[in-house]
Amino acid sequence: MTPLKDRHLIPQIQPWINEEEVRLVSQAVHSTLVTEAEFTRKFETQIAGLTGAKHAIAVCNGTAALYCALKALGIGPGDEVIVPDLTYVATANAVIMAGADPVFCEIRKDTFCIDLEWAERLITHRTKVVIPVHLYGQSADMDQVLRFARHHNLKIIEDAAQAVGVRFQGKHVGTFGELGIISFYGNKTITCGEGGVVLTEDDALATSVRRLKNHGRDKRGTFVHEHIGFNFSITEMQAALGVAQMGKLGRIIQRKREIHDRYLEELAGFGQLEPCQVDPRCSPVFWFTSCLCQESEQLAEFLLENQVQTRRFFPPLHLQPCYANHPGKKENTFPVSEELYRCGISLPSAYLLTEIEQSQVIATIKKFFR
Ligand SMILES: *Cc1c(COP(=O)(O)O)cnc(C)c1O
Repeated sequence: MTPLKDRHLIPQIQPWINEEEVRLVSQAVHSTLVTEAEFTRKFETQIAGLTGAKHAIAVCNGTAALYCALKALGIGPGDEVIVPDLTYVATANAVIMAGADPVFCEIRKDTFCIDLEWAERLITHRTKVVIPVHLYGQSADMDQVLRFARHHNLKIIEDAAQAVGVRFQGKHVGTFGELGIISFYGNKTITCGEGGVVLTEDDALATSVRRLKNHGRDKRGTFVHEHIGFNFSITEMQAALGVAQMGKLGRIIQRKREIHDRYLEELAGFGQLEPCQVDPRCSPVFWFTSCLCQESEQLAEFLLENQVQTRRFFPPLHLQPCYANHPGKKENTFPVSEELYRCGISLPSAYLLTEIEQSQVIATIKKFFR
């Protein structure tokens, strides 16, 4: 079976799914145990093994994982949570879902991650948590995050939604804070279709997360509820997809690095495209090859006219219509985050991108600048 692919368009991203996934998902379906059974346990064990986390708790998606992490820490109305201004909107929305207020923080131009020197001005007596986001396959400066959190007595939830396989000083991201989360949405490095995992070292927090995702129970199948919880279960079909994808993770990471290195090699010295800088303490995963370009919008248009799909960066939270009047916008200008939004562009970075297709992308970029 060949992946569905628009023959004319080189996709910016596409999951690598083949017979292996079909085999395991079909096994899950045939088992008739379709909710949280063997594949879910196996997926959790694989993620715990990869990250080194004591607890890896599977949930239905990354947004629910963030919500559970916030609630396990007791976050709710009246609390403020610092989030980077440049992120996927789910980081802030999960804080709203928990009943608290997200407060937006400027980011750093070198790594695209949260700028905690800037964050000093955001601290109030209501600030409880900081959520560093490991954006576009890079790690936030976790030394700085830990120092900042300790100094202000804050808890840390790492949004490692995009960062499976990413390490900072050799340690997998998502394992530095009280809790961390990873997403397995369809466009992430590996996918469950929908899926998320909460990571923690803390037994009590792990118990809280498990209760939150399972109607307040410590065990399935009882109808006495000691606590109030909800239903954020994953299905066996999603977990089976995840198990198959975990078997490919090493190859996907390796291929994405090759794609990234070739872009840099062939487009370096070109001046107009500025690659994201990698903190030497970070081992990135080039989920996307992202760079900055003064004419990103025109470049994206030109590439699309030539059958190459790219992606602009996320709009900064303070510019999102849904946050237009939110009190979390303590400042009105975030120059770095705005500049990255204006200039950021992510190039085709799928595992399935062929050498020939990448040559076509590179030639088209060169043609644009000529
Ligand atoms: C994808 C993503 C999420 C949300 O994950 P879902 O699984 O789609 O709910 C949260 N934060 C960031 C930074 C993401 O990229």
